[in-house]
Amino acid sequence: MRQSRQSFGMGVPIVAGFLVVLILMVSLTAVGLGYVAEANQRLKDIAQKNNAKTELATIMQSTLRERALSMHALPIITDPFDKDDEIQRFNLDGAAYVDARKRLEGMQLTQEENDILKRIRELTREAQPEVQAVVEMTTINNDQTEIFERIRSVAMPRQRAIAEQIGILLDIQRKQTATALQNAEDSYVQVRSLMLILGTLTFLMGLGIAWFVSRHVTNQAQQLANQAQQLANQAMYDALTGLPNRSLLHDRLEHEIALAAREKTSFGVVMMDLDRFKVINDTLGHEVGDEVLREVGRRLKATVRSEDTVARLGGDEYVLLLRDMEEKDVQQIANKLLTALDQPCYWQGQGIDLGASLGVSLYPVQCTDASTLLRCADIAMYVAKRAGSGYVLYAPEQEHSKRGDLSLKSELREAIHSNQLSLHYQPQIDHRSSRVVGLEALVRWNHPQRGFLAPDKFIPLAEEAGLIGPLTQWVLKTALSQIAQLRAEGYQLTMAVNLSARNLHDMTLPAAIESLLKVSGVAAEHLKLEITESAVMSSPVDGLAILTQLDRMGVTLSIDDFGTGYSSLSYLKQLPVDELKIDKSFVMDMEENENDAVIVRSTIDLAHNLGLKVTAEGVETQDAWDLLAILGCDRSQGYFMGRPMPVEKLMEWLKTSVWKQLAIESRRVAGKL
Ligand code: C2E
Ligand code: CA
Ligand code: CA
Repeated sequence: MRQSRQSFGMGVPIVAGFLVVLILMVSLTAVGLGYVAEANQRLKDIAQKNNAKTELATIMQSTLRERALSMHALPIITDPFDKDDEIQRFNLDGAAYVDARKRLEGMQLTQEENDILKRIRELTREAQPEVQAVVEMTTINNDQTEIFERIRSVAMPRQRAIAEQIGILLDIQRKQTATALQNAEDSYVQVRSLMLILGTLTFLMGLGIAWFVSRHVTNQAQQLANQAQQLANQAMYDALTGLPNRSLLHDRLEHEIALAAREKTSFGVVMMDLDRFKVINDTLGHEVGDEVLREVGRRLKATVRSEDTVARLGGDEYVLLLRDMEEKDVQQIANKLLTALDQPCYWQGQGIDLGASLGVSLYPVQCTDASTLLRCADIAMYVAKRAGSGYVLYAPEQEHSKRGDLSLKSELREAIHSNQLSLHYQPQIDHRSSRVVGLEALVRWNHPQRGFLAPDKFIPLAEEAGLIGPLTQWVLKTALSQIAQLRAEGYQLTMAVNLSARNLHDMTLPAAIESLLKVSGVAAEHLKLEITESAVMSSPVDGLAILTQLDRMGVTLSIDDFGTGYSSLSYLKQLPVDELKIDKSFVMDMEENENDAVIVRSTIDLAHNLGLKVTAEGVETQDAWDLLAILGCDRSQGYFMGRPMPVEKLMEWLKTSVWKQLAIESRRVAGKL
């Protein structure tokens, strides 16, 4: 939350900054282009105007020159026709001159130009009669000397005066063009420097933003890195002693295992627990307790080598990871550690005896993975503590110690929540139709180290640890959702789930089952609950109440393992059960053992007399199946027809087995057609 607000806060100036840069760039371009366009236009105007003026002035100059030449030519032309031609050219030039001058006067002129043109007009007016007179002289007078004298002394000075003025005019225009060019040049320079300034500004702005962003980002990254580091430290180290905690220990263990596996070395895991810590804590207080824990950490660290790990798991439990440790080193190392803890701790002059028990497990001779190494060391420590022997090296026999069960119990708690449990389903076959009519859900535990565990191995533990409630809940939920799915696919099956003795003490069970049925959408009559004889007998009052409620809900109830207990028939009659399940031990032996055969036969008869159905379990052969059919058994379950299977295998079985449902078969054929 804080972080997102921070980055939002940083985002605003960045966006604003980029906008400013963008605006600057756009205005820079616009202003620059404006200036250039203006300068261009000005230059074009000036060029056009001045070109026109200069052209006209040049026409005036050249016609004047032409007329002067004609004037000099006329006296010496003798042929009258040539003379006429020359006079005509002289006059045309005169007309062109006047025309040019008039057009020039019609243009937009400066005061200076106007003054000069005025002078030119006056001079022309003065010169005209003189020049005309000279031309006329050439037509009537043949005295060339006189004519030339006239031209030189009278006509030419006037003509020259006019030419001079035109020269001045041209000069002015040349100057005007030069000024215009200069102005244009200045404009360009102005634009260039403006663009340079704006460009630099934009560039600096960009740099500023980049700096701002980078500083912010670096700051934030730094902050995050620090936070991460802090969290990592918190997550990795025990706050009280500063020693590695459980998760860092696991890391190191994994690392050590990889290293030892590669280099073919061994190492040891020592689990240590103080003998009298609880007493110290209770009598001297937590502060002293904490100080003791720190002191123990220091002593352990001082005893082992720097490359070894000393971790604290919590409470007064420490774990040491000791490199290159083999069986022959165990005694020496354990003694060294015990000696280090033998020295009393002093508090207010009073000696506090610590004392500790150590359990050791070895890689790779005993265990090869991290959790097992810790579990084995833990079991060995428990044995050491019970024996008061200081330290014990792990041995597999210790698994049967109470501690072995204890560790399995805590793992089971984890297993229920972390998907390590699964259900296998065993088909139940109807004798009359020889078709599958139901399934029994049987729980399995896929233990990470020990592999698949059968329910006999952990159901009793679950009962002891008070975990049977959540376990049954999980089994019911999973089995119900499975049967709902199967029924949706057209399999008309019931689902049997086993209850444990402890479940019959839990008065909340019926309500829990009701809500599970509702959630899964399975009708109560499609759920069968199997309860062993002994379970019912262990909870006669509550058990009856629970079963009665379940019966009212419409759930089918079955007495499992029938024949193994000593249920009183009169009590059995009161139970709202629907079915007896003959225990597999009788069924499996009935062909050889006459006694068992009698039990099976009388159980079937008894059940039928009580109005109950009978299911036989443990049917392993065709003969057993046939015999049960003759005896009138309603249903059978056993390896002969189908073993308990994981769901994928069950689906295959349901499709291909000789015991599959006919209805499904015909429906599928119909579907195909
Ligand atoms: P059960 O209820 O008597 O279950 C039948 C047991 O007999 C199953 O053992 C099954 O695999 C085995 N079985 C089936 N057919 C044959 C056969 O033809 N021959 C032989 N030799 N055995 C056969 P499993 O799965 O090991 O279960 C053992 C017991 O664990 C069950 O006995 C049941 O009491 C208990 N259990 C299983 N799942 C659960 C559960 O989800 N909750 C509770 N509370 N108990 C369960
Ligand atoms: Ca059963
Ligand atoms: Ca049974």
